[in-house]
Amino acid sequence: MSNEFMKSQVNNNYYPAKAAGIDANDEVIDNNMVKPEFVCLGITDSCMLRCKMCYKWEEDIFIKKTQQVPTIEQYKNFLKGLRQLVNDNFVVNFGGGEPLLFDGIFEIIAYAVQLGFRTNLNSNGFLINKDNAIHFYEAGLHDIKLSLDSLDKKMHDYLRGVNGVYDQLMRAIDNLARYAPGIEISLISVVYEHNYREFIKLIEWINRHEKIKHVLIMAPMQPNNTYPENRWWKGKYSFLWPKDTRAVSSLMDELIEMKKQGYKINNTIGQLRAAKDYFIYPEKFVKKTHCNMYKAVHVSSIGQVYICFNYEIIGNIKNTDDMRNILYSDKAREVRDKIKNCKKNCHFLINCFFEEDSNDKGH
Ligand code: SF4
Ligand code: SF4
Repeated sequence: MSNEFMKSQVNNNYYPAKAAGIDANDEVIDNNMVKPEFVCLGITDSCMLRCKMCYKWEEDIFIKKTQQVPTIEQYKNFLKGLRQLVNDNFVVNFGGGEPLLFDGIFEIIAYAVQLGFRTNLNSNGFLINKDNAIHFYEAGLHDIKLSLDSLDKKMHDYLRGVNGVYDQLMRAIDNLARYAPGIEISLISVVYEHNYREFIKLIEWINRHEKIKHVLIMAPMQPNNTYPENRWWKGKYSFLWPKDTRAVSSLMDELIEMKKQGYKINNTIGQLRAAKDYFIYPEKFVKKTHCNMYKAVHVSSIGQVYICFNYEIIGNIKNTDDMRNILYSDKAREVRDKIKNCKKNCHFLINCFFEEDSNDKGH
């Protein structure tokens, strides 16, 4: 999970890169050799939940289980190489699957922190007991994002496909607040057909909760690990899509108003408006200008490096110790060119790596 919102979360509490024996790279780069602005390590595709909106828990349709995952050392090499290519205040995001299922996650986070990165991890909260909260604290994790879809316990558990997830999540928030002081806790909540009627109640609760920094509101997408469908909201997964367009549009107006009033909503107003448009006209193009995904780097659970998942793999972190070989390769330039000219009606950008078109700015 990814994104513009990372940028709004950076602060200046970084160890200088030189403390880790690395000089930041200030070289001038041309248009196709852009410095990455966002990196997401999808460190595992495994998950213990059975979410209705994500099928990571089924066998991956693209990655076979027999394919080797990177070692901890290979992740460290990747991070060390990356550090030389990016500016200070750079955010490394750990996602999945459920990242806590990756054996070695705390060691990799600690290494990233030591290099001077800001670290951010997405989790469903199910495994965050006292011990794991302490491990996060000791590793130096900066931010954690937990998924909460409803204050109705039964509804959250229904959407997440496993009984008890809601209670575990509430315990996770308590454990992090108590045993991992300083780690910023925020939530991600998605507007579905099932929960939109109670959504304001959820945002009010988050706003009052003193341990929660903010919430990022998202729009539903075609579930992960499913074959792309052109109009997914009309097909097999349409049960997720809010049916009453007028009602969901008025919900988005209310959320925009709450944002203006200073509620702890992390989205920009432009992003909330884009989500509203998406609910009204899902076929409409999201971006009026070119896509900004050319600044991103995604690493899959088997080490493949992508800039955008819809385009070719540009390398694998298992095959090189020098990230320049991947990020500044001819292949990477070629893919960045394709991204800049991409005409896909891609909704991914509403939730992730959203940047407002210039005429949406100013709020
Ligand atoms: S949405 Fe998150 S918690 Fe649910 S199955 Fe996918 S990875 Fe697991
Ligand atoms: S598919 Fe196209 S529009 Fe969507 S994120 Fe990739 S490059 Fe951007």
